Amino acid sequence: MKHLARPADVLILTLSILAIALLSVQVYGQPVSNPAVRIEVAESQWTYALDQNSTAQVPGPNGTMEVVIRNGEAFVEDCDCCPLKICVSMGRIHRAGQWIICLPNQIFVWIEGTPPDTMIDDISS
Ligand SMILES: [Zn+2]
Repeated sequence: MKHLARPADVLILTLSILAIALLSVQVYGQPVSNPAVRIEVAESQWTYALDQNSTAQVPGPNGTMEVVIRNGEAFVEDCDCCPLKICVSMGRIHRAGQWIICLPNQIFVWIEGTPPDTMIDDISS
């Protein structure tokens, strides 16, 4: 009896849930002209300018995640908590609507300021 979910299944399920969550953010959030990096952990939320190089040590419940913003792109440089390093392997985001999630650490990073349909295109393509 092997009914363990494969990582890919978990990822797809997570993406679906997040797409809905992000749509809610988009619907209720105010559009902004300058893309900004938003980092959200539980009750905390930070905003960084995408056009300013910086490094954020984000404290999650299971470790620290290092988010780097460099040359107009944001990415996870390292993550203490993830055995699979999914958040690190999600690569770089730079367009509004793109995002990175760290499930074990419950950290959500995204670029805000985009119409919802742009984001749907990103996910389905
Ligand atoms: Zn992680």
